Formats: sequence, structure tokens, C-alpha cells
Amino acid sequence: MAKGQRDIFAGLIRLHVLHHASREPIYGLEMLHELSRHGYRLGPGTLYPLLHGMEAQGLLRSKTICESGRTRRVYKATAAGRRALSEGHEKVRELLREMDEHE
Ligand SMILES: [Zn+2]
Repeated sequence: MAKGQRDIFAGLIRLHVLHHASREPIYGLEMLHELSRHGYRLGPGTLYPLLHGMEAQGLLRSKTICESGRTRRVYKATAAGRRALSEGHEKVRELLREMDEHE
């Protein structure tokens, strides 16, 4: 994928992650499947640093859970993450409105 396209999608992917993480705790692998369903082909080597980065920025909080002998990390949106999501939602809505007007 070209760099320019990657930069554009980076924000959309983050909004997707926030959207799902604000509804329920998400696993990295689950999120990879969800994003590929939307046509974003990311590998774990891209997604995990993205999740860690969003956690470092205070948008997500993760915890490790133990499930039948395996440890897995789940992510949830923080209050700041939910605020960023609702602002992002407004921006996307506004952009769509304008794009549709000029079709
Ligand atoms: Zn989705």
C-alpha cells in the first residue's frame, strides 16, 4: 500500500478500533479479523504496535486475562478514547455530508 493511502487509512483504522473497544473488550486477533472484514489488511506486526501506541496515548486501557491456561490481552476504550471517538464521529459525519452534497 502506498504511504499516502496508509496515512489516510491510519485514522480510520483507529476510529474503528475505538468504536469496537468502546462497546466491549476486544482482543487483538479479533480486531484483525474485524478490520479485514472492512478491507483493511493489517498484520499483527502493524496492529499490536498501533494498540500499544493508543494505550500510551491514553485512548485504550489493556489488561491481561487468563483463559484456560492461556494469557490474552484485552483492550477497552478509556473515557478519553470515547471522547476522541465521538469527536471523530462528528468529523466523519461532517465530511460525509459534504462529500455527498458534491457528488
Ligand atoms: Zn468495525
